[in-house]
Amino acid sequence: MAQPKPIKNVILMIPDGTSTSLLSAARWYQTYLDSTQTTLNIDPYVCGLVRTHSSDAPIGDSAPTTSCYVSGQPSQTSFVSTYPVATDHDLVPVDAARAYQPLATVLEAAKMLKHKSTGLVFTCEFPHATPADCSAHTYSRGKYGMIAPQMAHNHLDVVMGGGVKYLSENLQNDLKAAGYQIYLDDIQGFRNCSKAPVWALFGETSMPYWLEADPQKMPSLAEMTRKAISLLSQNQEGFFLMVEGSQVDWAAHANDAKNALIEFLEFDKACGEALNFAKKNGETVVVILPDHGTGAVTVGNTKSNHGYDKLPLKTIMSTIDNYQLSNWTMGEKLKAVDTTEWSQLMETYFGFSLQPAEISYLTTAKDYDKSPLPKEERKSNLPLYKMLSQIIYGRTYFGFTTFGHTIENVFLAVYHPQNDILKGVPTNIDVFNYLCRQLDLNGEMAQLTEDIYANHREVFKGYETKIDSLDKYHYRLTVKNKRNVLTADSYANYFTINNKKVDIESVIVYMDKNNTFYLPKKLRDYIELK
Ligand SMILES: [Zn+2]
Repeated sequence: MAQPKPIKNVILMIPDGTSTSLLSAARWYQTYLDSTQTTLNIDPYVCGLVRTHSSDAPIGDSAPTTSCYVSGQPSQTSFVSTYPVATDHDLVPVDAARAYQPLATVLEAAKMLKHKSTGLVFTCEFPHATPADCSAHTYSRGKYGMIAPQMAHNHLDVVMGGGVKYLSENLQNDLKAAGYQIYLDDIQGFRNCSKAPVWALFGETSMPYWLEADPQKMPSLAEMTRKAISLLSQNQEGFFLMVEGSQVDWAAHANDAKNALIEFLEFDKACGEALNFAKKNGETVVVILPDHGTGAVTVGNTKSNHGYDKLPLKTIMSTIDNYQLSNWTMGEKLKAVDTTEWSQLMETYFGFSLQPAEISYLTTAKDYDKSPLPKEERKSNLPLYKMLSQIIYGRTYFGFTTFGHTIENVFLAVYHPQNDILKGVPTNIDVFNYLCRQLDLNGEMAQLTEDIYANHREVFKGYETKIDSLDKYHYRLTVKNKRNVLTADSYANYFTINNKKVDIESVIVYMDKNNTFYLPKKLRDYIELK
């Protein structure tokens, strides 16, 4: 058989924190809502399970798990496409000398080596772990001040999702100067937009759960996916798009089954958009897989130890179908009023009232300021919205194993126009290699990392270098010799030589942990100019 031809477009779709057990529950919920809908869009393409884990732990965190899919190196909690620190319990080989080195991603390679357009679509805030994994580098996923400027300066063609407040005025100005259109909470602008490059953000922080969103003001994940594809596919060289169903994970962490199901079904609709495009286009591969499981939401709990085989679909689904808010939002509502109003509020939004014992249980939440118990005695208790989950889902047949992530293998679904499908139980590194093969990046990724994220001490060996801290996340490297002065700023996409600005295709990364700038090797040529 002939080798499959490299394809033109890659769409990577990640439903964050989707346990395999959720697929079945979500599909049945969809059928409950509409009896003609008995399959998910992804169903015909499910082809395996993926072994996903961190470099030092079998249960992964979002930052290192997607990092591995896009950069090929399992890493550790909080690391965003950055080489891990060696530990005494690593599950894969880790070279201690490379700790904190940024790792080039397939998105960066698609743009720099294959001249493809690149895009990110998600519903969390843009500097959150999964979109950041594709387009930024840090050892600390929470340091949005390091991540946001990298994303703004990484020449992305399409960015759509949440996080208006994280796109500072400075970053907006940089984007505008680079020719971007920016739409902030502007659905009309977003809908009328017909050309990249564009950033369209909705919601101060993340976008809301779809159940609680106003569809007049917010696009669905499917609409953003459709729009992103229509803009990115204008590039004759093709595109790389990552779409994240960000909040399956959040709902699963909250043990909020209804929102986990809805967020996953919304993600599946986005998969439908991508798959429809791919089937028509004929040169597009779609790879769909979660980064890890969360909560292991399923149907069948201790209430159904007996009689599980007699439960009608209606009995299983009708209770949760009546739930009108997330546990989180309900928790905030309860915190805002006196306990005497709690039962009525629960009746309104969840269709049942609270027992006196349930009310006293909820008042012991660690984040309930009006609690009769002193703070000290509540500090190891659950927050109110998680306690609420126990009460809300204790009335259903839904169950969870944890408020955290799980060790399970995650599902894999692939559409490929020539049927070059990754099958079986591949590792997270195998997924990366598959993506590289589709993009015709054979053995080029390690070289790209060495070329664009080289240690400044090696690049400027023999020269005088100095690092100044300009403000919290802004550092400047200055390199001098007799003739030339070169400066490089953290998270910028340019450097200066003798005060002249020179644009680069990648971003410059500074890691304070080892006081090191990671930048293109070719900068040495500039300092050596005669
Ligand atoms: Zn995750």
